Formats: sequence, structure tokens, C-alpha cells
Amino acid sequence: MPLTLDLFPPTFLRVFAALFGLLWGSFLNVVIYRVPKGMSVVRPASHCPACGAPVRAWQNVPVFSYVLLRGKAGCCGARLSPRYPLVELIGGVVSVAIVELLILPMPDTTTTLAHAGAVYASSFALAMGLIATAFIDLEHMVVLPDKANFVGAVLGVATCSLRGLSWLDGLIGAAVGLGIVLGINGLYKVVRGRTGMASGDAVLLGVVGAWFGWQGALFGLMAGAVQGVIVIVLVRLFGGAVTEPEAVKREREEILAEIEKLDPEERELALEEWRKEDELADEPGEGMQAALAFGPFIALAGLELLLFGKFLEDVVFLWQLG
Ligand SMILES: [Zn+2]
Repeated sequence: MPLTLDLFPPTFLRVFAALFGLLWGSFLNVVIYRVPKGMSVVRPASHCPACGAPVRAWQNVPVFSYVLLRGKAGCCGARLSPRYPLVELIGGVVSVAIVELLILPMPDTTTTLAHAGAVYASSFALAMGLIATAFIDLEHMVVLPDKANFVGAVLGVATCSLRGLSWLDGLIGAAVGLGIVLGINGLYKVVRGRTGMASGDAVLLGVVGAWFGWQGALFGLMAGAVQGVIVIVLVRLFGGAVTEPEAVKREREEILAEIEKLDPEERELALEEWRKEDELADEPGEGMQAALAFGPFIALAGLELLLFGKFLEDVVFLWQLG
């Protein structure tokens, strides 16, 4: 007889999920810090971003260490970004939410542990990828490397049956997600002669489609846009301004400095090449390129699809279309 979900009391599952999520949240911080710099996420072991001292185990306990050390590095006392405990906390909260919303509602005497484990593991893996993408995009206006997104899309198609979809739904969803942004982009290029939305947004929406079908891809685009506008309006209302992230400005200046070093005739060519290939080559304010990345809002919509998918299917018109 296969093992079933009723073997574990719900409280055990919640506590386990919280600890597991906090630990992986800690790893997410490593991903968010290193991937945009092109560094390996496994080696070397964590070092203090300020003084380079190795981080000791007790200084690396999720959330707890940050609170205990009052937001300072244990080695040199440098201020640590509140992003660290925030990301750890998000990891813990999302993990518990997956258990609460997707696992515990399953019938516990007939759901096998293998099935519940597969739903939890795949859901949590997607959530991790989306959270990492959101934070990296907010700071650097790039998404995860194509290789990571490809793996994410394949995992989505492969696990479609866990979400009541066929693998064909996943493939169509990926094509719709990718195609719709590339289509908007192509149209924009014809009209304005340059790219509009970032190509990373196309890839990201393709991943969302691979997980949640074509309705999911369209929901990602629409909910992402609506929530992005809401955030911009709220920021303005409270007297703030949406400006380009510091890191993006710095990276542009670095590339410009490199180009300046070239011979005058090569300089023109390199500048043109760069403008054509990098959506961030021009400063915001011209054309459609916004100072606020769209990726985090697609990622947020992806998390909403993951956690509230059943509810959305009942209330959002996209799912009534067939
Ligand atoms: Zn230090």
C-alpha cells in the first residue's frame, strides 16, 4: 500500500515547509547576488560583501542572524541590505503558502506522498525561480540566463499534469507567452525602428505559459501590466519617483568607458552594435523603454497563478474562453 498524506499531521508539514523555505531563501540571496555578476552559485562559500571574510554558520541562520546582529555583518560591522532577511522571509512564506493552498486541501487518505511531494517540489522550484528573477530584474533589469529559463520551461511542460493540463497545453502556452511579447516588439520595431519591451520579458512570459497554458501567459501579461501601473501610481501618490536602478546606470557607464578606449572609427561601430543588441544601451525616457522593469510583475503574476490558480480559473474571463 502506498504511503499517503495523512501520515503527517498538518502542523508538521507547515513547520517543515517554513524551515525548508527559509533555508532555500538564504540560497536565493546567493543567486540574486551572484548570477548578475556571472559568478557560480555553488562556489566559493559565502563571503561578507564588505570585507570578504567567510560567513560563519551562526551568522548565516535565515532572518534570525540579521535580527540578532541588528542588520550588521558579524565580521566587520558593515550594514547589510534588508533584502537579505526579506528574501529569506519570502522563501519561508511562499513555502508555507504552497503547503497551505496546494497540499493540505488534497484528500489526505487517498493522496500519495509521492504525488504531494511532486506538487510541492515543482511548485517550490518555480517559486524560487520567479522570486530570484523578480529581485535580479528590479536591480539590474535583466532576467535569469536563458539556460535557467529553458530548464524552467521544460520542467513546466513536464509537470503540466500536476496542474490539470496536458503537455500540449504547456507547449502552446510557452509559444503564446514568447510570441506575444516578440510580436509586440516586432510591431514596435516596424513603427519606431527600435526595440520596445525587453526580450527577457518574452522568455519569462514563455516560462509562465509553459506552466499555466495560454491563459496563464495572457494573464501574466495583463496582470503584470495592471499591477505595474498600480505600483507606479502608488509611488507617485506618495511623492516618489520611478527611476532607473543604480546598477543599470553603473553598468552602462562601464560599457561606455570601454567603448571610449577604442579607435575613433571602431567606436562608432561598437556603439551602434551595442545599441542594437542591448535594450539598456539607451537611457530611459526615450521610446517605450521604462525605468521600471516589467519582469518582477510577470514573476508576481506567475506566483499568483501558482498559488491561486484554481480561484483565478473561476473568476478571470480568460479561462471561460475554453
Ligand atoms: Zn565583513
